[in-house]
Amino acid sequence: MSRIAFIGLGIMGSPMAVNLVRAGHDVVGFNRSPEKTRALVEAGGRAADSVAEAVRDAEVVCVMVPDTPDVEAVVGGEDGVFAHAPDGTLLIDFSTIRPDVSAELAREAREHGLRPLDAPVSGGEKGAQEGTLSVMVGGEEADVEAARPVLEAVGRTVVHVGPSGSGQTVKAANQLIVAAHLEALAEAVVFLEAYQVKMSAALEVLGGGLAGSAVLAQKGQAMLDRSFTPGFRVELHDKDLGILTAAAREAGVVLPLGGMTAGLMASANAVGEGRLDHAALLLGLERLSGRGGLDR
Ligand code: NAP
Repeated sequence: MSRIAFIGLGIMGSPMAVNLVRAGHDVVGFNRSPEKTRALVEAGGRAADSVAEAVRDAEVVCVMVPDTPDVEAVVGGEDGVFAHAPDGTLLIDFSTIRPDVSAELAREAREHGLRPLDAPVSGGEKGAQEGTLSVMVGGEEADVEAARPVLEAVGRTVVHVGPSGSGQTVKAANQLIVAAHLEALAEAVVFLEAYQVKMSAALEVLGGGLAGSAVLAQKGQAMLDRSFTPGFRVELHDKDLGILTAAAREAGVVLPLGGMTAGLMASANAVGEGRLDHAALLLGLERLSGRGGLDR
């Protein structure tokens, strides 16, 4: 069992840290707003007052913060992980960030004597609570194997997909697929409601055939209820589709659906729906058809 520092205890990080305690690890957490350490402490972990304090004696440092600049802030600088984690520490970044920056941070981490892995996850808040996330891991084979007990305490599908940055590239593809499914589901809902079919029945039968998906199972009823408490916020999915489209452009590949869903997600963010769950893509589609809205 390992001494683990966990930085970033939000919607995903908090239940992941709790699952690490339940797996028997000694977990000390740090979050920018200190009140979010409560669930970890109640589960038997400890709270630190700074990144430096959290990582000082760690064998493994986990990071789960929103965006690329947040990870850079946590690992770099005078108070950061690079400056304070002991030599040989495994540094597992679960956040979804730019693949190129992830690869560069891994290079810097190695210069500081650390063993970096990018390990973005999929499966949502539910997957984080249940410890059933899909974990896409980039880094050195030996470091992935060393980290496996930690990765398998938070995830059910843990796969090493290549060198540093590769996990983030796979995660960008994941976000394309999820956005496209959400968009198709939202379009189906607008279409079916226009014909006043029995909506729960329609989703039930669609879910049993080839149209069934994890997105339909987890977000279908929420769309019917217009229940958009996050979950996964529009602003974060907007960030991820920005990562996808920039990386695709860099590689010279054209993603028509990726570009379109990126535009629709950016629109949802621009009109003030950024803090809603990404199932709120439905609201933008309703606007396109002159229908609906939250108070319809
Ligand atoms: P979140 O609820 O906003 O949690 C992020 C946490 O990081 C917040 O508690 C925030 O503190 C903390 N934080 C930010 N900067 C920090 C810093 N410099 N030092 C310490 N703590 C810091 O976001 P989330 O939904 O958990 O998402 C986290 C990452 O997972 C993102 O990259 C996201 O794209 C990815 N992800 C999310 C989901 C999902 O369903 N939510 C699924 C898969 C992947 P404050 O409380 O002060 O803001």
